[in-house]
Amino acid sequence: MTNDPAQEAVRQLARLRQEYRERLSKELLALRALGESLGSPGSHGRTLESLHLRLHKLAGSGGTFGLPGLSAGARALEHKSLAWLHAGDGPVPQAEHQAFLAGLDALAEICASDEADAPAVAPTAAVERPQLGETVRLWLIDDDVELGRELARQFESFNYTVRLFCTLGEAERAAGTERPDMLIMDVMFEQEGVNATEALAQCPALRALNCPVLFVSSFDDFHSRVRAARLGAVGYFLKPLDVPKLVGRMNQVFQQMSAPPQRVLVVDDDEELARHYRLTLQLAGMKVQTLENPGAIMEKIAEFRPELVLLDMHMPEFSGPDLAGVIRQHDNWASLPIVYLSAETDVDLQIAAMHRGADDFLHKPISDLQLVGAVRARVERARQLEAQISRDSLTGLLKHASIKDSASLEVVRARRSGKPVCLVMLDIDHFKAVNDTYGHATGDVVIASVAMLLRQRLRQSDIVGRYGGEEFVAVMPECDATHAMRLIDEIRERFAAVSFNHGSETFTCTISGGVACSSQYPDQDAAQLLVSADEALYQAKRNGRNQVRLAGQ
Ligand code: GH3
Ligand code: MG
Ligand code: MG
Repeated sequence: MTNDPAQEAVRQLARLRQEYRERLSKELLALRALGESLGSPGSHGRTLESLHLRLHKLAGSGGTFGLPGLSAGARALEHKSLAWLHAGDGPVPQAEHQAFLAGLDALAEICASDEADAPAVAPTAAVERPQLGETVRLWLIDDDVELGRELARQFESFNYTVRLFCTLGEAERAAGTERPDMLIMDVMFEQEGVNATEALAQCPALRALNCPVLFVSSFDDFHSRVRAARLGAVGYFLKPLDVPKLVGRMNQVFQQMSAPPQRVLVVDDDEELARHYRLTLQLAGMKVQTLENPGAIMEKIAEFRPELVLLDMHMPEFSGPDLAGVIRQHDNWASLPIVYLSAETDVDLQIAAMHRGADDFLHKPISDLQLVGAVRARVERARQLEAQISRDSLTGLLKHASIKDSASLEVVRARRSGKPVCLVMLDIDHFKAVNDTYGHATGDVVIASVAMLLRQRLRQSDIVGRYGGEEFVAVMPECDATHAMRLIDEIRERFAAVSFNHGSETFTCTISGGVACSSQYPDQDAAQLLVSADEALYQAKRNGRNQVRLAGQ
């Protein structure tokens, strides 16, 4: 008995398929009986309606449970029954009726012979993902020992742990027993006379590390760049290295790898299908909930905060378009992606449904891979848009208004829980001089570096924003003054050790900080606490800069 959730999901999916197939033979017998009764007088209309609905369901579900032939056959019969429905109450022509019954028999044959496709989505391999805030292990392979040491020192000041190798062979041997989170390789190994983009392609031990690779090189050589691209390298940087820029790229890669799971709400009246979609998306690493009671959709959305809603179109009480319309009445959810997943083939109905504020239309039956791909791409895009609105483009941190909102929220929460929250104001020292001496672009790199260091050193639960040009605010929930002071001072120290390049010149920079803790000012709201933190920052500046001060001391 294993409690691996991926294995459990695979087992449940298999059980679901099994149950579906068992139920199917009964369903086909029931359909056959309904089909036969079409020939007799009486409840003609209702029989047709029931037939149509059940065939519609079969067409939508068969492919999903590995029976595409069943879906196609049921779809043809569904269209036939719809045509009869539209024709009104008259009797079904006998030849057509016979053909229809033969079609139903053919469905049963398809089911008996159709080898079910294997489930398409394999559980995502349990890759070790570095979490921001945790130490990330870098392997640096560079035959220039001096440069390697200097680079290692700089990476370490950004909170990476670095292991330096001077030859490819050394790294290859280490790969037998350990693995890094990222590989950074020089392209040219002069003494060994090899080009790393060629060597890596032929080195199974290093390839097997299966981690992101980034190349650095003294030469802007197109062939090496192409080989690097083919190896899937996440970057190609030229020497002399712009370290903050390089670290920026590294951070981006790690941030993408450790993004939280996507949250999807599935609404489908066919419980088996809803469970199948849920398990399939869960196997791909997403968090999924299903909705049993469509009337409670807004409560569910508020509680689960999905990043996408998958909506069936035809449901007994409320239709998909009904629910989409209700969601769109709420301003908070105006941009929540809504995607229909339906067996509806009538394009006019599809378009009408899209007018109720939906974003896309996926057709049942849909393969597992298609479903996962479509959902993932939609949510990623939505996340990008959301980030563009609330995040600063240079640093990726929250913008002024958003960080103020977060501060308010956390101060209220702290008051309720009785646990302290610390608000921190940081400002780069003599930053105007950096701009004046090295130019605005270099100034931007310095700003981005402070942001990176903050994101890396603070806990995941801490919230960081760019408050103004070269000013930052950090909100540290459940953190007392001593702890906050220690952490911010350590960040200050690390930042002072980072050296920046401008052409052949190198320079360093410092920051000053002010910390205000809610336990010291229990009556202050977030705005007042920020003023207190700002006053402490002012004291730090007056006192000579490159230091952190606690408000009220
Ligand atoms: P202090 O140590 O007292 O903080 O001195 P300072 O020079 O850092 O302070 P001041 O507030 O006078 O200067 C901040 C400078 O930051 C002025 C402004 O031109 C620059 N700045 C603001 N936003 C940006 C930006 O996005 N990029 C760059 N490169 N500079 C910026
Ligand atoms: Mg400043
Ligand atoms: Mg300033």
